[in-house]
Amino acid sequence: MKTDRGSFNAHHYRYSPSMSTFLVECDAATWQAYGFEHKTIEESQAICEEIFADALDGHPLVSNKSVWRNFPWIWNENWSHGNRVLIGDALHTAHFSIGSGTRLAIEDAIALTKALEAETEISAGLARYQAERKPIVQKLVTAARTSADWYERFPEHMKLDLMDFAYSYITRSGRIADARLRAMSPEFMARYEASKKIGSQA
Ligand SMILES: Cc1cc2nc3c(=O)[nH]c(=O)nc-3n(C[C@H](O)[C@H](O)[C@H](O)COP(=O)(O)OP(=O)(O)OC[C@H]3O[C@@H](n4cnc5c(N)ncnc54)[C@H](O)[C@@H]3O)c2cc1C
Repeated sequence: MKTDRGSFNAHHYRYSPSMSTFLVECDAATWQAYGFEHKTIEESQAICEEIFADALDGHPLVSNKSVWRNFPWIWNENWSHGNRVLIGDALHTAHFSIGSGTRLAIEDAIALTKALEAETEISAGLARYQAERKPIVQKLVTAARTSADWYERFPEHMKLDLMDFAYSYITRSGRIADARLRAMSPEFMARYEASKKIGSQA
């Protein structure tokens, strides 16, 4: 959403029939232009309600410890120490734009249980957990970082025309190559590629 003072983006997804997560994001310049640093939660909420009035369709936002914050990037090379072990967000964070943090946390717990069951010594179980799980998590965390970088440059992307914007959005995490996208959405890719040909002929 573009305003006279900057650009905003909202990630919103339903979690019950009557409620959705509604997460508002903006770049540093926009945040400063609105003076959010000096606004109360209620004032920020009112501004966001006004900016996203169309998307909210007349509904108010419901605050839930709604503070402005930078995404906390957490990554650990060593996953355990003695008889202590890390899982979930304490071990790694994955940007909410790929929506996998909860799944990763639960899958960490499953992987840890399986690794401990497969070994008789706890230390061997913890080593197995890290060796088997780390490459899987690393792939997703890398995709999440690439996706987060895309959102960091959101105002630039908003200047793209429709098909370029859509293509850029879908491929933002670097996990969807053209061949995969062609197999998943042949009509979209045909339209996108046709728009490129028209662009190059002009
Ligand atoms: C704005 C936002 C939107 C998100 N959207 C999504 C999404 O759409 N899909 C998705 O999959 N993930 C999403 N995530 C990520 C997801 O919330 C986390 O990845 C997930 O909650 C991690 O689970 P966890 O159990 O590791 O940590 P948490 O859920 O943070 O649980 C840790 C718990 O430990 C408690 N705790 C902390 N310190 C102590 C202490 N000293 N003693 C006792 N208890 C303590 C905390 O209070 C908390 O209850 C989002 C995150 C954010 C911030």
